[in-house]
Amino acid sequence: MKYIELVKIYEELEKNPSKIKKAEIIADFIKKQTDKDIQIVMMLVQGIVFPKFYGYELGIALQMMMKAISKSTGYDIKDIEEEFKSSGDLGNVVEKLTESRKQSLLVKKELELENVFDNLKQLAFIEGSGTQEKKLNLISELISSASPKEAKYVVRTILGDLRVGVAEGIIRDAIAKAFLDDSKDAKDAVEYAMNIYPDFGEIAIIAKKNGINGLKKMKIKIGQPVQVMLGEKVESVDEIIQKFGKIAAEFKYDGMRAQIHKDGEKIWIYTRRLENVTKQFPDLVKLCKECIKVKKCVVEGEVVGIDKKGQPMPFQTLSQRIQRKYDIEKMVKEIPIQINLFDVLVVEDEQVLDKPLLERRKILKEIVKEIPNKFVIARQIVTDSAKEIERFYKESIDSKQEGLFLKVIESKYVFGRRVGGWYKLKPTMETLDLAIIGALWGTGKRTGWMGSFILGCRDEKTGKFLECGMLGTGVKEKKSQENDVTFKELTEILKPLVISEKGGQVKIKPKVVISVDYQEIQKSPNYESGFALRFPRFISLRSDKSVEDVDSIERIKYLYKIQKKSKNK
Ligand code: AMP
Repeated sequence: MKYIELVKIYEELEKNPSKIKKAEIIADFIKKQTDKDIQIVMMLVQGIVFPKFYGYELGIALQMMMKAISKSTGYDIKDIEEEFKSSGDLGNVVEKLTESRKQSLLVKKELELENVFDNLKQLAFIEGSGTQEKKLNLISELISSASPKEAKYVVRTILGDLRVGVAEGIIRDAIAKAFLDDSKDAKDAVEYAMNIYPDFGEIAIIAKKNGINGLKKMKIKIGQPVQVMLGEKVESVDEIIQKFGKIAAEFKYDGMRAQIHKDGEKIWIYTRRLENVTKQFPDLVKLCKECIKVKKCVVEGEVVGIDKKGQPMPFQTLSQRIQRKYDIEKMVKEIPIQINLFDVLVVEDEQVLDKPLLERRKILKEIVKEIPNKFVIARQIVTDSAKEIERFYKESIDSKQEGLFLKVIESKYVFGRRVGGWYKLKPTMETLDLAIIGALWGTGKRTGWMGSFILGCRDEKTGKFLECGMLGTGVKEKKSQENDVTFKELTEILKPLVISEKGGQVKIKPKVVISVDYQEIQKSPNYESGFALRFPRFISLRSDKSVEDVDSIERIKYLYKIQKKSKNK
């Protein structure tokens, strides 16, 4: 197949904002393709070249892309920067510049889909000396041999910013429409497969060949992460007890979610974003080998940092271990951990997701040998007494944990958020998790770094991020403690995510999540969300969370309301 055929689909997708229509466009397209092309299209239509969670990065920042465009079009970097400033999209820039390219044109053949895909994949595997140069050459060759429209989407794909609006829900509906039917059962079967298997191309082929039953029969593969179950926030215990009666209340530990896969001596540890952090936690790997009594399993728990007195450390301290790629043994000594296990998904060859919560917990107890303060099962009480739960809640807060999880005792393990079954109870004025969506370049002591950061909350309806505050406090000029985050560090993390720049202010692709403390929420016409956080302060980088975990505008509205009520008291 020619790449231009996919480009036509991209254009249609861009033109049609309706999710139903987008799913139809993709379904009609993949129905006509060979199995091999379906696999490629399923990936490229999402703007990726590897299934998510494989951990491969193309590693191309804006600056390098500008160089590649310059090399292949003959335009000066300055011209490219100028164009970029006005359009904010290097895809559009390359389209425009290749149309009027200064470089002489060779007689060109149309690009083959498979060829483009292979070249894009290669970018992730270029290593060693001269990596940047080799990547630059590969990209500029690709752009040189592309038509303007093709170049536009090649560039956007490499930058991870395809802008055709195909989220996972659309992929699910497209696969169901193309190879199954439009029923809820079909969509659920595809969704189930997508939750346990990251390669959606492969899922499309299974749907095509083996239908709904083929998908339903798919099983979690040990070693390969699956989407985690999450909870919804509730405001009162009574609300839950009235609805469900007896409930399992568990400590909500303040740490990192760990999904642990074990197959004999092989252990894998994944975060809730399904990032592989096995290397960072050799101490946990050792504990798993010692304390898990079965050969194969998938279990989940919360890892917390524990100080020398056995007291939990704040998440900021533990977070240093999540990203750490060197001096790991030193970190193991400095920040010892404890895991609190709360679920089991697979035991030996049996998937136990559909068993009720309390039964899963029983299995967990049977397969684990606990070591106090190191490898333990999460604290839990089962009761229908609101008073008892409140006492337990206080105990959790007093021992520096976040609150409670209230879990329905018959609930199955269901992937995703807001799936029912788990409810979290946290103090109301807790910190907010927000995305950094912009920044201002610093002045004075902060010259050369981003000096203040624009915070965004999520609009659940549109998936967009709305400004809700500007933060400059809490980020440090110099590191005085290990867990301090400096302006320099944050700038380095954010720089590759810059989308556009104007008058010292940059727009940043929402990817980085931070926990933010604040004094109060105010109404504000200056921000798109209609609210502003007063005196927001940086608490920690939440590298374990993705932008889907960012607090919503609804949550901010709610917090504003109850804050007003408590002021009026
Ligand atoms: P939140 O980060 O507020 O969305 O809360 C969800 C997170 O709480 C999960 O991803 C876990 O990392 C964490 N957590 C802590 N304790 C528990 C528990 N007992 N059960 C489930 N999740 C827990």
